[in-house]
Amino acid sequence: MDIEAEVLRTIREYRLIEGDEKVAVALSGGKDSTSVLYILNKLGYNVCGLMIDLYLGEWSRIHRENMERFCRELGVPLTIIDLKEELGQGICFIKAVLRKKKNLTGCTVCGIIKRWLLNRGAKRIGADKLATGHNLDDEAQNVLMNFLKGNIFLGVNSAPATGGKKVEGFVQRIKPLFFVPESEVLKYAKRKKFKILYDKCPCAFGTYRVDTREWMRGIGYDKKRQIVENFQKIALPLRRRAFEGVSFCKNCGEPSRGELCNACKIFVEI
Ligand code: AMP
Ligand code: ZN
Repeated sequence: MDIEAEVLRTIREYRLIEGDEKVAVALSGGKDSTSVLYILNKLGYNVCGLMIDLYLGEWSRIHRENMERFCRELGVPLTIIDLKEELGQGICFIKAVLRKKKNLTGCTVCGIIKRWLLNRGAKRIGADKLATGHNLDDEAQNVLMNFLKGNIFLGVNSAPATGGKKVEGFVQRIKPLFFVPESEVLKYAKRKKFKILYDKCPCAFGTYRVDTREWMRGIGYDKKRQIVENFQKIALPLRRRAFEGVSFCKNCGEPSRGELCNACKIFVEI
């Protein structure tokens, strides 16, 4: 697959980026988000990097150094969101407290905190869009995971461009690799010889996502694409509902469904 062409097709078809909009690429340091930054920059878009240092020991330190070097070499500005400066603790401490107090495990906590910090960070640097490295495999896994958990509504907002442009307080999230399978991103990153780590997050073990990834190992590109595209057909009419009733968190001011946003509900506990 010609990933660069597929990304350009997705951007044009779904109008992910217009004119010289400023696109902050959420960089984890992994192959997906690194490839997104590289490709968008190569295609001439106005990009910058936005990375959260989660303080996951050596893993975070190496990822951060890699991204600092990568952005420097590309001549792209990078903003680091320092979790300890923002919340006073690293992610392991936060997860440990929540496991004990609320029996909350898995990647949910990390996901909520990342989304909260990235939306705030993107607004702070004046970004028009926030690009993530989610690929076709991630999206197909999400469809199945939400279905199996009986949470289909959770996923209706997942699309190449998430969240309407007009939703106040949200920086629209875009996924340029939405139709690119993980195996192709891996090949691309290796061919380009990106100096990055290829390991999965050390925290993501024993989770539903890991199980789902295993089940889906034998499913080919066409089937994954069908899962994602067919889900989009169901999701489209439901999507309008997803942003109904969104107001603002009384604690942090970020968009929220209830009085407190999901992140602030977590912060109350730590
Ligand atoms: P994950 O939830 O770890 O599978 O990551 C999904 C996407 O979220 C990545 O492709 C990145 O775009 C973004 N992301 C994950 N971790 C970070 C981080 N520490 N800083 C910034 N963006 C991140
Ligand atoms: Zn809040």
